[in-house]
Amino acid sequence: MRNDQKALRACLLASALLLGSVALRQDLGAQVIPVQYEELTAPDFVKAVEESNCTCIIPMGIIEKHGPHLPLGTDLLDARETAIRAAKREYAIVYPHYYFGQIFEAKHQPGTVAYSSKVIWDLLQETCDELSRNGIKKIILYSGHGGNSNFVRYFCNAQLEKRRDYAVYLFTPTSDSAAAASVKALRRTRDDGHAGENETSAMLVVRPDLVRIDQAKSQSGENQNRLGNLQNSFLGIWWYARYPNHYAGDGSQASRELGEVLLNNQVDQLVRMIREVKQDENALRLQRQFFDEAERPLETEQ
Ligand SMILES: [Zn+2]
Repeated sequence: MRNDQKALRACLLASALLLGSVALRQDLGAQVIPVQYEELTAPDFVKAVEESNCTCIIPMGIIEKHGPHLPLGTDLLDARETAIRAAKREYAIVYPHYYFGQIFEAKHQPGTVAYSSKVIWDLLQETCDELSRNGIKKIILYSGHGGNSNFVRYFCNAQLEKRRDYAVYLFTPTSDSAAAASVKALRRTRDDGHAGENETSAMLVVRPDLVRIDQAKSQSGENQNRLGNLQNSFLGIWWYARYPNHYAGDGSQASRELGEVLLNNQVDQLVRMIREVKQDENALRLQRQFFDEAERPLETEQ
């Protein structure tokens, strides 16, 4: 049997055992195992793989300036908190601190760590490979950093480059009308972006001790539109042209209430996604079928 078939069978078996193991845990009153990868013992890791139905979330952050008032690791702290809260509601393993991504546009700001494109690609692929070697066959990418958006989508596309015995699922939140209405009612600023009202509000929930709200107006987060009239062009320099302070919006208007709505909405959607991914039997099966077809020699006419 091929490795990917074995992996699929193991996941399906784990799927069947899943409900049973939860019931067993409740009956025995057994200690709940941590969701954080780095907090698991080696024997508990084996149980965690089973409990999660071979599912691990990689909360992806970055180290970059977040206006003059938020910590460099804002996206990392935020993504991890979201993933940990969600995984505690629907069990999945949460990968350790991961702050390797696309952030060239902030190289002119203090503290930014901008690894090369080759390194961030290889590191993510090898992280997935290592997870798979350890029995994880369903990998959820949860990107908390806007600068990663194109990178993580292309990374998912490129998983079809060659046969793999695991599937990579990218978290793609949808708009929730109830949450959107609450956000609208609570929002004080119109233009909001990097380190602005939303993101600062979320940090007021996740790590309020690190928010320097009194500094939030010490730099401008206004769009400076320095590329002028280039309406139909995309350039790497677009962000710097608009927001040279690496700050978009006004974080001084943040509130904890808004942060709670934003964070809870992300957590709810991630819980739903984890549940769907754990139950999913199609992705790995279709990947295998796809490569069986792609690798079949072409029939040539005689
Ligand atoms: Zn951010």
